[in-house]
Amino acid sequence: MIADDLAELIFNDLVLSPKSPSAQSTSNTAQTLLTLRPGRKCLYAQTMARHEGISARKLLQDETRLVECSPHGRLRIAVGYPNSYHVAHSSLAYQWVTRLTGATHEVGVERFVADSHLAGRTLESETPLGNLDVLAFSCSFELDAVNILRILDSAGIPRLSNERAARHPLIVVGGAIASINPLPLSPAVDVFCLGAAELLLPNLLAAIQDTPEREKLLEDLAAQDGYFIPRHHLDSMGKPIGRRRRLEKRDHHMAAKGSVPFSHIVTPHTEYSERALIEMSRGCPEKCRYCWVSYNYGRLRCYPTEAILARVDELSHITNRLGFVATAVGDHPELPHILEYCRERELEVALSSLRIPAMVPEILQPLADSGARSVTIAPETGSDDLRRRLSKPIPNSRILEAVETAQRCGIENLKMYFIIGLPGESDDDIRSISTLLRESRATILGHARQRGRMGNLHAGISILVPKPYTPYHREAMLTAAEARRRIRILRQELKGMPNIKLDIPSYGQARWQGYLSRGGVQAFHAISAAASGSAPKQVMADYKQAVDAATTSQPTDDPGWSFISSAPSG
Ligand code: SF4
Repeated sequence: MIADDLAELIFNDLVLSPKSPSAQSTSNTAQTLLTLRPGRKCLYAQTMARHEGISARKLLQDETRLVECSPHGRLRIAVGYPNSYHVAHSSLAYQWVTRLTGATHEVGVERFVADSHLAGRTLESETPLGNLDVLAFSCSFELDAVNILRILDSAGIPRLSNERAARHPLIVVGGAIASINPLPLSPAVDVFCLGAAELLLPNLLAAIQDTPEREKLLEDLAAQDGYFIPRHHLDSMGKPIGRRRRLEKRDHHMAAKGSVPFSHIVTPHTEYSERALIEMSRGCPEKCRYCWVSYNYGRLRCYPTEAILARVDELSHITNRLGFVATAVGDHPELPHILEYCRERELEVALSSLRIPAMVPEILQPLADSGARSVTIAPETGSDDLRRRLSKPIPNSRILEAVETAQRCGIENLKMYFIIGLPGESDDDIRSISTLLRESRATILGHARQRGRMGNLHAGISILVPKPYTPYHREAMLTAAEARRRIRILRQELKGMPNIKLDIPSYGQARWQGYLSRGGVQAFHAISAAASGSAPKQVMADYKQAVDAATTSQPTDDPGWSFISSAPSG
């Protein structure tokens, strides 16, 4: 899991929501990636209602902070997350960026979020956002783009960068949304950070302090790798001029002292109540063809074990609940040792979802011993052949073996994620999902008889949203009618089967996400209409031609968004 854009994770011992379409924005083991449950159905953004109404003062009182960040400094920055306090503080990336900013000399940092009763002001001093020098957004999910504009509105800041004056804050956006496709938000943003916060933030903050004149600052940043400056890097038609380079952490960055990202605030008001998160590694040993992470974060690199254990020691002063996160958390070669270290200190541990090859007793047993009762895996399809074509050559027999191992270790509940709409998918492939679910259920049932208690089997289905910079970047998404037909087949196949909870995706949300993933600068108008309160159906109807072109059609001409290259990760 990744400091610059990952965030919320599904932990194996927590019962969370189904993977939303946005999970595919990064990985799909994905499921590591954020998938927080919307409090209410909303096409545009996953805003949670659960903590709406709690005052900023009460939220701050309920926090335990390992370090205090000062709001005072020569440069005043507010770091925000375009979703609720609950979602924001479940995000390791958001917390880490706040921490890095607060540790910078002469920089005062505060936080802001999107809850309606908190919007427009900082959490700490309730300063109007318009009075800050910089507003830095950490944004992992396309669906939250609308909230960025709503936050600007709530602060009385013009949405368009070319309508803002020098007295307005500089608007900076980092996180996966910046690297997947920054074009739809580019009319609103001064600086996009492409890559790891550790590599971009120090230089950005120094440049802002050294260069008070905004045009000169943007010109200087435009000449450097890692920044996308719409004012300099787009032509008059909104097409990118040249390529931009994304900066990824290399081995020596990961080995450096203090490099392991961790959350420094624990609070009951997150999805992982009172749990602190620690990043274990970056990248992935696999290259699943739909997965943006695998094509952008490079090969697997792990943080040194001693550095991870040092974070464990630090965080154990404020909580006994830890979460280890990564796209491939189970692939850290010393994970069993790290789990044992935590067990000896009576720390309760959770892991983000595991790759199927990591579902082995050496990892599952210590996890179960620390109280985990649920595990999440991502077969993606029930067909061995289709899975092989996804470059995920793991047979069903290995998946069922993993289910059996988890049950034997005492982990009763299983969550499985599947994608429909994969290129080349047949009706038989859809039926194979139900076969794999039936067989998994039979395994769980066998153990439930001995245990006297049936575990839950949860199947989260999502619709493929093809991502830029993956081999599927020019694939068409399913049409609404075809998605409905395939889901009908699946429902029919599972009819009458007890103990399987099926989460069916929102087609509208997947289509909107698809538009923001492959839309151009013009998509800003649709985001803007949504931020102004237009109903989702109306926005989709008003922009139908453009939405169709970016989703259910196969883009044939230059898609425009393909202008970011990743630096090697070695
Ligand atoms: S490439 Fe890795 S992170 Fe991406 S879906 Fe595959 S296993 Fe998961």
